[in-house]
Amino acid sequence: MQAAADRSPTEAETRPEVVAFVALGANLGDATQTLQTALAALAAVPGVRVRKTSSLYRTAPIESSGPDYLNAVADITTTLTAPALLDALQTLEQAAGRERPYRNAPRTLDLDLLLYGDSRIQSLTLTVPHPRMWERAFVLVPLHEIAPGRVSREALDAVAGQPIAPCQPQRG
Ligand code: ADP
Ligand code: MG
Repeated sequence: MQAAADRSPTEAETRPEVVAFVALGANLGDATQTLQTALAALAAVPGVRVRKTSSLYRTAPIESSGPDYLNAVADITTTLTAPALLDALQTLEQAAGRERPYRNAPRTLDLDLLLYGDSRIQSLTLTVPHPRMWERAFVLVPLHEIAPGRVSREALDAVAGQPIAPCQPQRG
């Protein structure tokens, strides 16, 4: 194995680690599999370390139709910049869209960057904190599960009317 001192560090390695939270959602195809694959792929992104993931939650589609959504939130540390992390998330979304576990089975994956340290970012392609996270039980409930200090009781109360259920762990 090459010693770290023998090669130049990449840009990602020289940046400080930032704690970030990523929301995952899927509602077409085998959504459980999609989310598990996405979490493994996220953990494999250079410069990303997945520290904790929430349970999977099931929610009825809001302002849309189709099957229930499965949602989760991941607590990561990253040495990527926020735009580079968004790029990586979008690459994973595209990869999931191309997977076809069954013939003609569409799959969708939504990966949103919720929080990036304490940064406030407002650009054409990226807004952090995610602008709609405080309206969504499917984001706040799993985020509260893994990072209770990040979601106030008032914020949870504000979305209490949106039904959300933890998925039962599958028995093998
Ligand atoms: P949503 O997740 O709100 O339902 P999309 O996944 O279709 O919508 O995202 C559309 C665009 O939102 C993306 O192309 C991306 O540039 C932009 N965007 C802005 N802020 C964020 C963020 N914090 N996380 C993910 N995407 C973001
Ligand atoms: Mg999105």
